[in-house]
Order: sequence, then C-alpha cells, then structure tokens
Amino acid sequence: MRYKNSEELYNKAVNLMPGGVNSPVRAFLNVDRTPVFIDRAKGDKIYDVDGNEYIDYVCSWGPGILGHAHPKVIEAVKAACEKGLTFGAPTRNEVELAELIKSIMPSMEVMRMVNSGTEATMSAIRTARGYTGRDMILKFKGCYHGHSDGLLVKAGSAALTSAVPDSAGVPESYTKNTLVALYNDENSVKELFEKYGNDIACVIVEPVAANMGVVLPEKGFLQFLRDITEKYNSVLIFDEVITGFRLGLGGAQEYYGIKPDMTTLGKIVGGGMPMAVYGGRKEIMDFVSPVGKVYQAGTLSGNPVATTAGIATIKILMENKNIYSDIEKKTSKIAEALKYIGLSVNQAGSLLCGYFTDREVKNYDDALSSDTKKYAEFFAWLIDRGIYVAPSQYEAMFISAAHSDEDIEKTCGIIREFKNN
Ligand SMILES: *Cc1c(COP(=O)(O)O)cnc(C)c1O
Repeated sequence: MRYKNSEELYNKAVNLMPGGVNSPVRAFLNVDRTPVFIDRAKGDKIYDVDGNEYIDYVCSWGPGILGHAHPKVIEAVKAACEKGLTFGAPTRNEVELAELIKSIMPSMEVMRMVNSGTEATMSAIRTARGYTGRDMILKFKGCYHGHSDGLLVKAGSAALTSAVPDSAGVPESYTKNTLVALYNDENSVKELFEKYGNDIACVIVEPVAANMGVVLPEKGFLQFLRDITEKYNSVLIFDEVITGFRLGLGGAQEYYGIKPDMTTLGKIVGGGMPMAVYGGRKEIMDFVSPVGKVYQAGTLSGNPVATTAGIATIKILMENKNIYSDIEKKTSKIAEALKYIGLSVNQAGSLLCGYFTDREVKNYDDALSSDTKKYAEFFAWLIDRGIYVAPSQYEAMFISAAHSDEDIEKTCGIIREFKNN
C-alpha cells in the first residue's frame, strides 16, 4: 500500500528500460526491493509518488550539498532558462565558472567543461596519454571513475599483469593498457612502476575512495603517489568528482595538501545539473583541441543552465565557509549512531559509510567482507521509516547543509533502534 504508485510505475518501467532505471544502482537489486519513484525534493527531504516523505542521505549521489532546490539556485536557473537553454557557443557563464574553479583549486590552471564525470575522467586520461605519448594507465581496485571502456576492469589473475574487462562488451584489447593496484598499498604501485614505469601515462585515483563505501587514504599514501608519478614523469590525476567542493571547498587536494597534475570534477560542480570538468596544468591542457592534438568535444558542454546552477552553488559555498564544519558535525552524529549498532565506520568530512563487518575497512577487500544481506535489512528498516539511504552497501552516505539538527536526531534514533529489532 505504502508504495502502490511506485510499484505501478516500476511495473511499466521494467518493460521500457533495463531494470526499469537509467543507472543500475537505482533498481534496488542490491537490497532486494523495488525502487521508489521520486516526485520532488526540498531541503533535506525527498517525496515519492505515493506522497511518502524521506530524509534524504543520497542527495543525488553527491551534488546536493546544499540540500534540494535551494531557493537561490532555483532562482538563478529559472532566469537562465528564460535566456535560452543552449547555444552551442561560448558564454560569459563559462568564463565566470572557470575563474571561480581556478580561484578555489589553483592546480586547475586550464580546464574544459563536459557533461558527466565519465566524460571528464575519460578525457583527462586521453589528455594524459597525448601529453606523455604513453599508453598505460594505473587505477586502483575499488575506485570508480565512470563507465568508459578502459576503466571497466578487474585486476588480472596474476599479480603484475594488466587488467581484464569487468563488463561484457568491453574488448580485452581496450583494457590491456590498464593496470590495477591496491588502494593504500604502496608496494602494489611500486611494483607496477618498476615493471612498466616508463610506459605509464597517468595514475588516476579517488583521493578519498567513495565508491566502495568510503575508504580514506592512509597517511602518506597520496604523497607517495605524488612522488612516484613525479619520479616517472607520469601524470597524477585526482578524480575529485565526489570530493571536489565536498571535503572542503578546495576538495581533497586542499584537505590533504597535495597538488595533482590534473583534476576531474563532477556532481557538486553542476549544482544538480549534468556538468563536469577536467583540467590541470596548462602545459598538459594545451594538448587539448583546438590548441593541441587531443580531440575532445561536446554539443551541450558548458551548457548555460548547468553552468548557472554550478556558479550559484559554488558561490553559496564560498560565502558560507562554516557549511563544511557544520555538515561534518552532523555527519559525526550519524557516524556515532552507526557505531552504536556495531558497524565499522569510515568518515571523511561529510562523506560517511558504515560497513557490516568487524574489520577496519582500508581497501576494497576489507569492504567486501561486509555482510550485504544485513545491509539490505538495514536499508529496509530505514526506508520503511522514512530514511532514504543508498540502496547498496558500497556507496557513501551524503549529508547536506540542509539537514536540520532535528532530522539528524530523528535519523540517529531510528538507526539505534535497529539494534534491538
Ligand atoms: C560519480 C563518479 C564518476 C562518474 O560520474 P558520472 O557523472 O556518473 O558519469 C566518476 N568518478 C567518481 C569518483 C565518481 O564518484
């Protein structure tokens, strides 16, 4: 009854879209439920098509750092819409947004705007390859960088071999230049560099891994990556699609004080609209077309409405610097509740994940030790009580500036009760 309209829509949707959805995790398969269909959202709440209200801890997987439908962002977007939705020509907005980003992240000397995180990482890697004239790339097990072919890999069976496809439809020839190391394991990186160092165009890493739950870099790990890439003249790419404007205004590079050669941004940078950015050192970005020979283009890139939402969001974040300490405090309260019910908890700023495991989670294998059946029970407990968290153990929980103390308390109470159910 509670989900009647959602179920009706779902029954239609499964015949129209794979799994009834446009991005797999939304299908709720990992928690053995059928999805709720969302009608609208405001502040820290979302409302489904049956009128159920939820306190939202997904926040569209990260963009919603101000909560939903912030009045200033909506007002700016409405005004932008009135001026036309897309021109396919340069605009004042793009210049303004690029200046804002560069002032916040000085490592982004030159940048290019695209439409999704996938596009940003794919293009950053192509640029790194063009710049270095090398083919191989190194990524980490459990880090996600979007769904481009060369990144959909799992580690090869033997150590020190290149990766194999982790998706049907990806030819092995597309992944043979992708090396996979272990997050927080310097030796695994060292060994690959000793063997292939002069062929590695770039290392791409989530400076805080937030697509296997949340895994923090151990002390020295990011600096180690900075040093080894410098030694081998390899490009260090921080994929800050989640951490950018989240871990602090200046993202993980500011938080940890490490300057990457290139950075990818997404999620928050579009303020809820489809937008992403890649950029970095001018010397590298000068390889991008039309200045250089690395081709990359986009019909809707730098879209005037999306850039407007991004600018409005970033300005609010700049004007209210205490947002970050505020949401970190709220996040810590939720973290305490998750610890109370016995979870292994990782937190970085307002990124949070509680794993159903006894292990401290420092890498992908630790994360995999989590009892996902138990997570599914936890998910059901929460959603049926109006708390919306990710329908998968391996996603971060997102807290926004719009989460009220009252709603945080309410959430903590419902989490604690799970212990006795
Ligand atoms: C979400 C995400 C991506 C992919 O972005 P899309 O906009 O979904 O294509 C890439 N990297 C990281 C770290 C992400 O969290």
